[in-house]
Amino acid sequence: MRRVRFAPSPTGSLHLGNALTAVANRAFGDWMLLRIDDTDPKRVVPGGEEAIVRDLRWLGITWEEGPVRQSERHERYRQAASRLGDRFDGITLLRPDGTATYHLASVVDDIDFQITHVIRGADHRPNEVLHRRLHQALGSEPPQYIHHGLILGPDGRKLSKRHGPASIADLREAGIPAHAVRAYLEELDLPRHDVRVDFARIRRLAVETLAAMSDETLAALLGVPARVIPAVRGARDLKEAREYALILSPPPPVEVDARPTLERFLELRAGACDQLDAEAARALVGELKAVGADLRALRLALTGRERGPELWAILVALPRHEALRRVERALR
Ligand code: GLU
Repeated sequence: MRRVRFAPSPTGSLHLGNALTAVANRAFGDWMLLRIDDTDPKRVVPGGEEAIVRDLRWLGITWEEGPVRQSERHERYRQAASRLGDRFDGITLLRPDGTATYHLASVVDDIDFQITHVIRGADHRPNEVLHRRLHQALGSEPPQYIHHGLILGPDGRKLSKRHGPASIADLREAGIPAHAVRAYLEELDLPRHDVRVDFARIRRLAVETLAAMSDETLAALLGVPARVIPAVRGARDLKEAREYALILSPPPPVEVDARPTLERFLELRAGACDQLDAEAARALVGELKAVGADLRALRLALTGRERGPELWAILVALPRHEALRRVERALR
């Protein structure tokens, strides 16, 4: 039985490279622990663990045990340190406040949870020797270590938001279906060397995923009636599909109590061209903001919903006559 663990620090939504580690562990392991590496307060972000759990669920990745938080296991680490001392091989094991550093905590956990295979990013390769020695010093047979190449930006540097959607949350917001993200990561498998992210491939997988979805599944995912689906079939991702659906499914009539905002909007929108581009739409939203307009009410009047695409994107998606018609109806 292969026992593996996925051990992110709770820094927020998973980066693509971390998600690759999760997918690789899941593919390889028979039993998987979700461990939260929160011994370093600098790497703990409020809500970070929840974001990770949400990402894993979204990707359809399951685990057998956890989340186990290292911050709740310091007593165990102190016991282990009492056999080794506060330092080992020139490395600090225990901080002055008595909490364990990553190396000690990670090895003790791998022992206690009987991990047989450690699969992680190549940035941890330099830790392998130390981790083996710690295992031996604690009287345990080290697990097998497998380090996979990292996912870099298209320019070969560390992947970051400036390259495009770098985290699972970014990809979800960009409308890439979960199945496409997972398929991309499964294709990468366990890269021996670092790889550059291939956004074009991710986009193609998104198109394929949408094409393979039944009308019912797609309608449920978008929260729209099935009759709208034929018209959204041309969309390349879920974000685009939502925008198409928004144009096609007239919102339920709502009464909105924000007359000055809606009247100002009617003036501005009537005076602009039929099809706004992103820049013009953003400028229009900016003008409304400047006069303290109730943008929530405007969104409700335009879409019948509290949430959805950004307001400017709605204005781009709706032709002038349709936007005017909806707001006039909300004013009545
Ligand atoms: N918490 C570490 C990280 O996020 C993983 C440590 C490990 O897998 O040993 O990089």
